[in-house]
Amino acid sequence: MHAETGARRGMPLHTKILLGLAVGAGSGVLANALWRDAPALQWAVDNIAQPIGQIFLRMLFMVVVPLVFTSIALGVAGLGDLKKVGRIGGKTLLIFVATTALAVVVGLTLVNIVRPGESLDPTIRAALLEEYAPQAAEKVQASETNGFGVNTFVNIVPRNPLDAAARGDMLGLIFFTLIFGIALTRLPASVSQPVLKVLEGIGQAVAEMIGFAMKLAPFGVAGLIFAVTARFGFDVLRSLSLYVIMVLVALAIHQFGVLTLLARLLVGIRPGEFIRRIRALMVTAFSTSSSNATLPTTIRTAQEEFGVPKEVAGFVLPLGATMNMNGTALFEGMTVLFLAQVFGVDLSLPMQIVVVIMSVITAIGVAGVPSGSIPLIVLVMEMVGVPGEGIALILGVDRILDMARTVPNVTGDLLTSLLITKSERLPFFGPEAEAVPAEPAPEHAAPAGAQVTAGD
Ligand code: ASP
Repeated sequence: MHAETGARRGMPLHTKILLGLAVGAGSGVLANALWRDAPALQWAVDNIAQPIGQIFLRMLFMVVVPLVFTSIALGVAGLGDLKKVGRIGGKTLLIFVATTALAVVVGLTLVNIVRPGESLDPTIRAALLEEYAPQAAEKVQASETNGFGVNTFVNIVPRNPLDAAARGDMLGLIFFTLIFGIALTRLPASVSQPVLKVLEGIGQAVAEMIGFAMKLAPFGVAGLIFAVTARFGFDVLRSLSLYVIMVLVALAIHQFGVLTLLARLLVGIRPGEFIRRIRALMVTAFSTSSSNATLPTTIRTAQEEFGVPKEVAGFVLPLGATMNMNGTALFEGMTVLFLAQVFGVDLSLPMQIVVVIMSVITAIGVAGVPSGSIPLIVLVMEMVGVPGEGIALILGVDRILDMARTVPNVTGDLLTSLLITKSERLPFFGPEAEAVPAEPAPEHAAPAGAQVTAGD
């Protein structure tokens, strides 16, 4: 409601954000074509576009920890008993894994058919390997420190929740908060109620803060996109065009085919309607490249556009922003296979199944921040015998692909919250959603609600 206030004064917020995206991208591409190496452009990026974009991103990042803490604690407490939390938690994880696995299969099928790695020019390969070698070495090192084994699971339990929060270890923070929420449900109401009241107050204050941040969104988005496009090496994009196009096509198939179809078949929302209502969500994910930074918008979209109950949104969506990454897993699988093709490593079907499984598992551990998945891709590459340094080949185009893969990442989260709401037979349009009739699109409230519940 807060973030939509702009809508009442004229142009709806999502239109303003889209406009910001278009203006930023258009002027960035133009500036790139005209003055790519000019110091003045560099100056404008460093002193105007980047700071505006970063302030917007930081305003969002700054609320993520309190948002995750209050929404999960209140979500768990709102769900009530442990049995219900367990049931919804189980279903949520199942949907996460199923949609993520579907995404990887879409990606791998495409990369197996087109085989973009085989047509990569060896001189381009050598040049990219050399140019991005230092960054690649960093990523290889990061993948070694993270590693994968029993400790990956042990580390989910934080020694110190404040330290986990400070390091941006969302899984640790989520684990602590889940246990905290469960503990609250076991206390007598006289003890738990005051705590819940405080959490609710903090939650509402956080929501207001997100409203402030979203007012900046059109400018922040323009700044972020301008900074990317103005200095982007479009030649790298050209030399890897087949790979880039394949990844974008696969992401689009998953986003507009698989996820949208699932929303139609399982929830009863028409594809056009679904896409229309997640516009702001898609644009925010695309421009921030971060599921975490998009989390406030994901929660708001679920509640205000679809009427997902607060406790379901509060429980499912922070989990999703951290654990459910459809687009990332798809990208991981495709990239490992693409690089295997480039380096002439023949991956048999069993090995490809390993890639699918590892992409699904590692996507759970990927941090919902820009380029969070790169160290984990290196991990999967090395596991199946592709040299980790090969990641250098795609680093130059990662930014664009990161923007694109974050969109299905958050859409998958949103869809999961809808599926859970539906499967728990909860009403889709709760009081929060009905409180937004001022949204200019008249179809927003009543008919849309009817459409959603029609599938019941
Ligand atoms: N940027 C992605 C996200 O935040 C993570 C990644 O794939 O690097 O969802």
